[in-house]
Amino acid sequence: MEKSLLKKIPTLQNTEVTNKRCLVRVDFNVPIKDGKITSLARIQAAKPTIDYLLKAKAKVILLSHLSRIKKIEDIKSGKKSLKIVAKALQRMYPRYNVVFIKDNRDKKLPSLVRNMKQNQIFLLENTRYQDINQKTGQLVKLESKNNLRLAKFWASLGEVFVNDAFATIHRGHASNAGVAKQMKNKCIGFLIQNELENIIKFDKYATRPITSIIGGAKISDKIKLLETLMATSNQVLIGGGMANTFLAALGINLGKSLVETEMLGFARDLYAKHKDKIILPIDLKVAKEYADIPGEYVSINKFPKELMALDVGPKTIKQYLKIIKLSKTIFWNGPTGVSEFNNYSNSTATIAKEVAKATASGAFTLIGGGDTAAAAIKFTNKNAFSFISTGGGATLAVIAGEKLPGLKG
Ligand code: AMP
Repeated sequence: MEKSLLKKIPTLQNTEVTNKRCLVRVDFNVPIKDGKITSLARIQAAKPTIDYLLKAKAKVILLSHLSRIKKIEDIKSGKKSLKIVAKALQRMYPRYNVVFIKDNRDKKLPSLVRNMKQNQIFLLENTRYQDINQKTGQLVKLESKNNLRLAKFWASLGEVFVNDAFATIHRGHASNAGVAKQMKNKCIGFLIQNELENIIKFDKYATRPITSIIGGAKISDKIKLLETLMATSNQVLIGGGMANTFLAALGINLGKSLVETEMLGFARDLYAKHKDKIILPIDLKVAKEYADIPGEYVSINKFPKELMALDVGPKTIKQYLKIIKLSKTIFWNGPTGVSEFNNYSNSTATIAKEVAKATASGAFTLIGGGDTAAAAIKFTNKNAFSFISTGGGATLAVIAGEKLPGLKG
């Protein structure tokens, strides 16, 4: 993402919100298990923006998605309803009355909103409910395909639009891009602003040496990201399932390991172009099957054909650590092994600790993506890095310099 782009985006501080009806797109896509919210982090992340608006005596109307809505049962079951979030929000704002609006396209909504009381906060039902026609059960994707009439309806509810849903800025949906296009007065909230300001610090002008650590399951999800990292970084450490495909592209047989055969050509070309920067595993920890069972270490040149790689080995970790120690700027996305399995989390845990040490010694360290953030925090703590970005696909899209349709209007 270009630094200049951020300068062009209006922020909350530069926007007149006092006494205004503010339509706020937040990310309340909280994890839910057995009917309970397991982490309030996403709701808490929206709090600075909501607090600021309430202090300015603005009327706050919140829009959010929750999970994906693909069929009518997703709605009928109630499992993806934001009602549970409304209750959590009410506990967070005891002095306010959180009003949950069951029908987010109710014809009465414009007049309800105009008559909002000073102590009320409105939360509309899951925006993605509009992806299904509730009468016919048909998948219509009005929200996800940015339907104009839907965007106009939501836009009619507010005088100012505040987009603070960072996790969806790489998507052009009715509740972000669509609404923004219809509204003259609009800005980003503090969460998006903070994310962009921090992510932007990782770029080719950052203090060198710049190291990227990239892992996770697949190359195919991260093509543009990999290309950008090659251009930005002095060294790129590749681990996880993704490394298997690079090794296979170099002619190494990896038995039953996860390899993306359709990405072999891409991996071969990228490696040929940037081999001076890329560090691939030289040894691996292998198992008989994809399970949390004890494994053994093998060199990449002696890979047993009946086994699969689930983590990188100690020699590879040693190589990684040497580079991390010397780095002044570090970006990390993707576990370098199956970090959910205790037997295969060693490299991810060791990297987390070393990147934390680098942070303590003054390096700028950026952790991106939900899985990576969870792993990094599990093996250290949430204050051990310069910035942990929470956006998943959105974080990667910003780093890769991709278009961000959710920010446009
Ligand atoms: P991503 O969402 O692309 O960052 O991928 C994260 C997932 O990659 C995690 O669930 C890891 O378990 C998985 N992963 C990491 N290394 C491997 C590997 N060697 N084989 C299979 N999956 C892996």
